[in-house]
Amino acid sequence: MSDEKRFNILHLYPEHMNLYGDRGNVLALTQRARWRHIPSEVMVREIGEPIDWEAVDMVFMGGGEDTHQARIAEDFLKIGPELASRLRDGLPMLAICGAYQLLGQYYKTAEGRELPGVGFLDVWTEPGTTRAIGDVVTQTSLPIVPESLVGFENHGGRTFLGEGARPLGQVALGQGNNGQDGTEGALQDRVIGTYLHGSLLPKNPHLADLLLKWSLERRGVTDSLEPLEEEEEMAAHQTIVARSRNS
Ligand code: GLN
Repeated sequence: MSDEKRFNILHLYPEHMNLYGDRGNVLALTQRARWRHIPSEVMVREIGEPIDWEAVDMVFMGGGEDTHQARIAEDFLKIGPELASRLRDGLPMLAICGAYQLLGQYYKTAEGRELPGVGFLDVWTEPGTTRAIGDVVTQTSLPIVPESLVGFENHGGRTFLGEGARPLGQVALGQGNNGQDGTEGALQDRVIGTYLHGSLLPKNPHLADLLLKWSLERRGVTDSLEPLEEEEEMAAHQTIVARSRNS
């Protein structure tokens, strides 16, 4: 890969997997790149379409209802081995909710149908008896300041982590992975799986910049990112963090 400064994001299945404004994550990333004069391109990829993997700097996939997950699951399994090998090689990916579940070993739907996952993340998801819905605040171990991540969850599945996956964070507000062990999301290599919709990145610009940094590093670009004004974004972030203190 050349060290040319640019940012190409592969957006998987935007037609089927785009709940609660998940597409806003792609907009946040590309806009933050453009504000820094880094050319960026969104490579949209739907079922059955080819992928120019060599051009990809980061992968994004959003959440979806059970029926939408079932629709893309077979195709996702087909690209799974190539995707997993690139992720193991350090390609960054952000997978939200339904995508997070399918990047794991399996997702059992509310109706009890087991959808096999790509198996990159060492996580599995069982159906819950209720849906976990509401604001979420987590404290993450990622190298970002502040350490909080905020978002909105709405899922029926309960995700459990195996030994290969670290939690993305500890829940300060909300249910997170399963409402039992206090964890939210998973982290493996440079892959982030999380239940946080919102969209996530507009309210967590520090996480957006970490993903941009990781992506640029793959092109050999290691200079630090020019700081951007983010008063409004952080005000939205802090409003939700305050809810965890008042709860
Ligand atoms: N269908 C999945 C669940 O309910 C994922 C939902 C989502 O992506 N928000 O657990």
